[in-house]
Amino acid sequence: MGVVHIAALAALPNLFTRFCALQAKFLRRAETLPSDSLIKALTTQLDLSKEKTTWGELRRSVLWKKAQLLKEHQPWLKDPLKEAYVLLGLCKPVWDPVLLLPCTRSERRRLIKWRIAWLPPTPSVECQCGAIKGNRNHMLICPATITLVQKLWSLMDPAPPSEVHLIDYALNCLPRSFKSPDTWCDWWPCLLALLRAVDQTTSSYKLPEEKAHGQILIDLAAKFRDTKPNRLHRIPPPTQEPLPGDPFPHLLSEISTVPHQPPPSVPSRNCA
Ligand SMILES: [Zn+2]
Repeated sequence: MGVVHIAALAALPNLFTRFCALQAKFLRRAETLPSDSLIKALTTQLDLSKEKTTWGELRRSVLWKKAQLLKEHQPWLKDPLKEAYVLLGLCKPVWDPVLLLPCTRSERRRLIKWRIAWLPPTPSVECQCGAIKGNRNHMLICPATITLVQKLWSLMDPAPPSEVHLIDYALNCLPRSFKSPDTWCDWWPCLLALLRAVDQTTSSYKLPEEKAHGQILIDLAAKFRDTKPNRLHRIPPPTQEPLPGDPFPHLLSEISTVPHQPPPSVPSRNCA
């Protein structure tokens, strides 16, 4: 179970996808070789052969046929094979945000372990509060985590549905980049602290001290804000003194003193 989840987190393609991709890459490579190469000479003969060959089977693969169709009907495409890969749904799924968002190694280890159901440990171990089964449901009512659970619950907007575990819901709300500021920045440190509390209360030893949770995100967000160009300063304010005899500044001041009037009402057209 855990291995499957790890592959899904890292967006690793399955064996069928790799099989199709390797076949198609081999065919494309064979097509681009010089005409005097051995494989080119062989495949020319094989294409003319009416017998059933491995080369023919390769050329009938789903991905290659799709790529050839795209190449024929949409010649402007730079990489038809890549487009076919996407169209057939073989493209890589997105990475899980727990692998992308900034945090310490210990915090990321806990995030991944929660995702693959290794935190709290499976099978369940005894909780430090005395509960026999320190499982996921117990972590919502454990005295060691209840304060952080309540805090995270209050920060989540919208509130998590009752049928979804609070931490799972929070992980599903995460963006794929820290450059997407939203309410998640408010509860990200709380989530990391809660996972540490879960780790601690199901461990038989004391965890080493760590820095304030979420500090890396706060530092990066501040750095990103500082480097972001401020559009308000792109237009420099007028610094030139008005030239004598120039009526434009006077007209501007008169326009600014005119009280704002509502737009005249347009009489309704009689359609009768
Ligand atoms: Zn407990």
